[in-house]
Amino acid sequence: MPDRYAVIGNPIAHSRSPEIHAAFARQASQDLEYTRILAPLDGFDAAVAAFRAAGGRGLNVTLPFKGAAFRLATATSGRAREAEAVNTLRFEGARVDGDNTDGVGLARDIVANLGIALEGRRLLIVGAGGAARGVIPSLLDARPAEVVVVNRTAERAADLARQFNGRVRAAGFATLPRQAFDIVVNATSAGLAGEAPPLPTTAFVDGALAYDMVYGKGETAFLALARASGAARFADGLGMLVEQAAESFYLWRGVRPDTAPVLAMLRAGT
Ligand code: NAP
Repeated sequence: MPDRYAVIGNPIAHSRSPEIHAAFARQASQDLEYTRILAPLDGFDAAVAAFRAAGGRGLNVTLPFKGAAFRLATATSGRAREAEAVNTLRFEGARVDGDNTDGVGLARDIVANLGIALEGRRLLIVGAGGAARGVIPSLLDARPAEVVVVNRTAERAADLARQFNGRVRAAGFATLPRQAFDIVVNATSAGLAGEAPPLPTTAFVDGALAYDMVYGKGETAFLALARASGAARFADGLGMLVEQAAESFYLWRGVRPDTAPVLAMLRAGT
């Protein structure tokens, strides 16, 4: 019997995680099965319990259950506690370990795949939802010069800044200081509706990296705005998706996959 893993969310049909983990398993000669679980919006804990009872070894958790997974875990990593969100669960007897690999995934994609240092750079995170919260601990670990969070609902950005004890500065779009950033990460879901967040063109230094966490949408409205505002490097969130998956695979199996061929395979198929 192969060891069983899955990604759980609602909706879930679009998830590319099964392809990614199947490719990692082939590469690392690991005998495992990785499927998708659609959990009812009010049925996350029950769906996890059923998966565990059937012998499941671990889960990736996606929208809208990362907070519920954090509450369900019996032990959590420091980065999961800072984010108050869990995207990776590992089951060991009665123990449920919760971790958050989204931030490592984003940081590795920027530093290792795109070859752009985070240290000493000025970072602007657009959005203050679960994705922004999840990546901030790993971005802070990379010692940027500063991290500013701007959000449509300014109060949510202020909450994030309080939670990170002032290591993050908060702004609303109307109060964004007239300053330019080396790296601008779009962690909003505005792109799913074809919209760009209302950033001023002055937010990007000449040559900035514009990173959109959304993937599979071509040039999003955010990336188009960045291009018109002086950014010179552009990335979607597919690299982050593959890198966060690789970190989860490592937590479960103790083997670190080679992500480059898997990312190339996904890009060839998009
Ligand atoms: P979320 O918790 O629902 O937060 C959504 C965020 O988007 C909030 O900050 C919201 O602002 C903002 N927003 C929504 N519509 C907007 C608009 N029209 N203009 C400006 N801001 C808008 O969602 P999430 O979990 O943070 O996910 C955000 C995005 O990241 C999603 O598209 C998701 O697919 C992507 N993501 C990608 C990866 C990856 O591996 N590549 C991983 C995680 C997430 P308010 O607070 O004002 O509502």
